[in-house]
Amino acid sequence: MDGVAGKVVAITGASSGIGEATALELATRGAAVVLGARRTDRLDALAERIRAEGGRAETLDVDVTRRADLDRLVSRAVEAFDHLDVLVANAGIARVAPVCDLDVDDWDAMIDVNLRGVLHGIAAALPVFREQGRGHLVTTVSTSGLKIVPTQAVYAGTKNAVRTLLEALRQESTDGVLRTTSISPGFVRTELVDHVADPEQRAQAQKTMAELGIAPEAVARAIAFAVEQPDDVEIGELTIRPTTQN
Ligand code: NDP
Repeated sequence: MDGVAGKVVAITGASSGIGEATALELATRGAAVVLGARRTDRLDALAERIRAEGGRAETLDVDVTRRADLDRLVSRAVEAFDHLDVLVANAGIARVAPVCDLDVDDWDAMIDVNLRGVLHGIAAALPVFREQGRGHLVTTVSTSGLKIVPTQAVYAGTKNAVRTLLEALRQESTDGVLRTTSISPGFVRTELVDHVADPEQRAQAQKTMAELGIAPEAVARAIAFAVEQPDDVEIGELTIRPTTQN
C-alpha cells in the first residue's frame, strides 16, 4: 500500500517531542494512530486534537519496559483498526554523564527503555506482521551512535544496539514481509534532556538543544517519508540533523 493515508500506525513515546509530532504528521495525512506512553493525560489531549481535526486516534497507558504493555498496544491497534501497518518504536530516555560517574541505575534505565523497550515492540509486532504478510518497524536511534562523544556512551550504546538489531532483522526478513527503518536524529528541541539528573550536565545539554536543535516536526516528516513508500521500497537508514551540527 502506497502513501500514509489508511495506514494504522502505533507509536511509543507519543506524549511529547518526536513521537507527538509524528502522531500529528501521520494523522494529518490520514493514518489511524495508536498512541502509547506513560503520561496518558498528554496522550488523551493529543488524541482529542487529532479527532477534532477529523483524524483517528486511540491512546493507551504504555511503559515500554513492560513486555505486556507492548502486546496490549499492538492488540489495541488490531482491535480498533483491524490491523497494524507500522510500529514506531520511539520511546527513549537520555541520561548523559561520563561513564566514570558510574550512574549504574541510569545505565539500567537507558538499557531498559531504549533497548529492551524496542525488543518488546518487536516481540509484540512481529507475529502480527507475519500473520498479515506485511509490516514496518521504525525506530528512532541517534547520531550519537554515529559520532561518539563523551557523556553519551551508554545512551549511544543502546542506540547502536538497536541499529544493529534492525539491520540483522532486515537481513533475516528478505521475504518481503517486514520493512525496517532506523531514523537517526541529531539535536532536536524536545524534553529529552530535561530529565538529566545532574544540574550542570542538564543545563549544558539544554543549552545545546536550544541553540542548535531542529523542530521535532522535521523528524516526523522523515518518518512519514519512510512510511509512505510503497511496500517494495524500504528506507533503511535516515540521518536528520541540524545543518550546523558538527
Ligand atoms: P521526549 O523526552 O520529548 O520524548 C520521549 C518520549 O518517550 C516521551 O513520550 C516519553 O513518554 C516516552 N518514554 C520515556 N520512557 C518511557 C517508558 N518507560 N515507557 C513508555 N514511554 C516512555 O524526547 P524525544 O522526542 O526527543 O525522544 C524521542 C526519541 O528520539 C527517543 O528515543 C530519543 O532517544 C530519540 N532521539 C532524540 C534526539 C533529540 O535530540 N531530542 C536525538 C536523537 C534521538 P512518557 O514519559 O509519557 O512515558
